[in-house]
Amino acid sequence: MAATINTRPSSSAASSHQGTLTDTDRPTLLTKLEPQPARVNAAVLLSREDGMITVSDDRSVRVYLKRDSGQYWPSICQFLPAAAIALDYNEPTARLFVGLSNGTVYEFTIAEDFNSLKETRQMIAHMNGISCVRFSLQCELVFSCGKDKALVWHCSETGNRMGSYLCEAWCTALELDSATKYAFVGDYSGNVLVIHILGDNAQLVSKLSAHTGSIRSLAWDHQRQLLFSGSNDNLVIMWDIGGRRGQAFELNGHKTKLSCLAYILGKKRLFSADESGSLMCWDMAAHRLETPAWQSSDACQRCESPFFWNLRAMWDKKVVGLRQHHCRMCGQAVCASCCSHLTKYPPMGYELPVRICDGCHRDMQADSDRFDMTPLALAIDLRQSIVCMSLDETKGRLLTVGNDRVLMLWDVKRLAC
Ligand SMILES: [Zn+2]
Ligand SMILES: [Zn+2]
Repeated sequence: MAATINTRPSSSAASSHQGTLTDTDRPTLLTKLEPQPARVNAAVLLSREDGMITVSDDRSVRVYLKRDSGQYWPSICQFLPAAAIALDYNEPTARLFVGLSNGTVYEFTIAEDFNSLKETRQMIAHMNGISCVRFSLQCELVFSCGKDKALVWHCSETGNRMGSYLCEAWCTALELDSATKYAFVGDYSGNVLVIHILGDNAQLVSKLSAHTGSIRSLAWDHQRQLLFSGSNDNLVIMWDIGGRRGQAFELNGHKTKLSCLAYILGKKRLFSADESGSLMCWDMAAHRLETPAWQSSDACQRCESPFFWNLRAMWDKKVVGLRQHHCRMCGQAVCASCCSHLTKYPPMGYELPVRICDGCHRDMQADSDRFDMTPLALAIDLRQSIVCMSLDETKGRLLTVGNDRVLMLWDVKRLAC
């Protein structure tokens, strides 16, 4: 896929916004590792060493280090009792948490020389498969969630189970805000639950509902209190929790199901990857507009032709009812012939062309300076269906794990640093 080329940049806006993403910023491939023996479910890049940790369907935890030959070889390969699905690694304390398909969370300490794992404890957390594990050093809590619909937290000093919260659907993604003890849980039905942890109790604070597909991944900007959710509906939504006005912004640039997100605090950029191998880097410092709510009407709000369920008007006017569409810029309910134009509109997150009505199209043509068309994202084709990824902000490196079991390491300094 080619980069999103700016077809009609607004010169004033393009120059006013620093940090514009350009084609020269795209990642370069540093290394490609040999295909793994089994599907890799999660991976993390080390920043102090030149290496990475993976957990796989073959029940393994592997630590890879770069050798003098320039290649990455495993320094640790340890097998667990069940498929390893999720991991979280706290680099300063060398504590590694691995969630298994049998519901157990293992805690390990990685030896200083990276040649062995020492098991610290096992926590029997769930009835069946774990989907996510997150460790908070600040709270000394280990959070996990899974197919049993439960969010569970354990004390990481004693290994004791502290509490649990039963969600409505299979939990698929998890993020934490350690400072305020909020957990964000994405679920199979497309909702994101905001749960406040109060000791051994939990309180549901809000339910963020806008996705029409399962949540696949979450990312959290704790400085600006922005939550990002990526879903099977191809969409990323940025939830402005800190803004306290209930605003949500759509990022519309993927053509297939999202698989993972990663966020860079320093540069305020979000990476999203999908199942067809498209990686997008989004400029989240840019000013963005909310997409309009879709209006409801029994007839086209431009030409007044009735929609197909409006039987009375169809009879009165002796016409055939039409299918309803919505203009993505104004939200009006319109017929197909009143919204035949397609356009990108980056401030609303439309990095791919969307349907807009005749009225909005006319406004854009007549007053093009008002509509800034500078792309706010860069699309990169990684030619690999992405399962998971890990970003190291300090070194500007990105690790991607493909459905083909191949690990690739990319230089993303120009995008990330
Ligand atoms: Zn119409
Ligand atoms: Zn419109």
